[in-house]
Amino acid sequence: VSASGAGLFIEVRVGTDAAADAELAKQLVEVCPVDIFELGAAGELEISLENVDECTLCELCLAVGKPGAVRVLKLYDEGAELQRG
Ligand code: SF4
Repeated sequence: VSASGAGLFIEVRVGTDAAADAELAKQLVEVCPVDIFELGAAGELEISLENVDECTLCELCLAVGKPGAVRVLKLYDEGAELQRG
């Protein structure tokens, strides 16, 4: 299980271990201010394709799980990865 989704400007990727972790999925849903993370019918992590471009680059999701578990790629900047600042 992994979860990823791309819009025009932003792509969000959640690695296999992290996406399969129900607790972590819940945390992601809670931290993102623009609701990019959602829980599917079976509680699985999903990326909202509707909201993904609304990402504010707030970095809150990068603090969830192990480093690198959640990646935010700036497609408008040649796919540069958002770093924790
Ligand atoms: S950086 Fe902020 S707005 Fe963007 S996906 Fe992560 S939590 Fe949501």
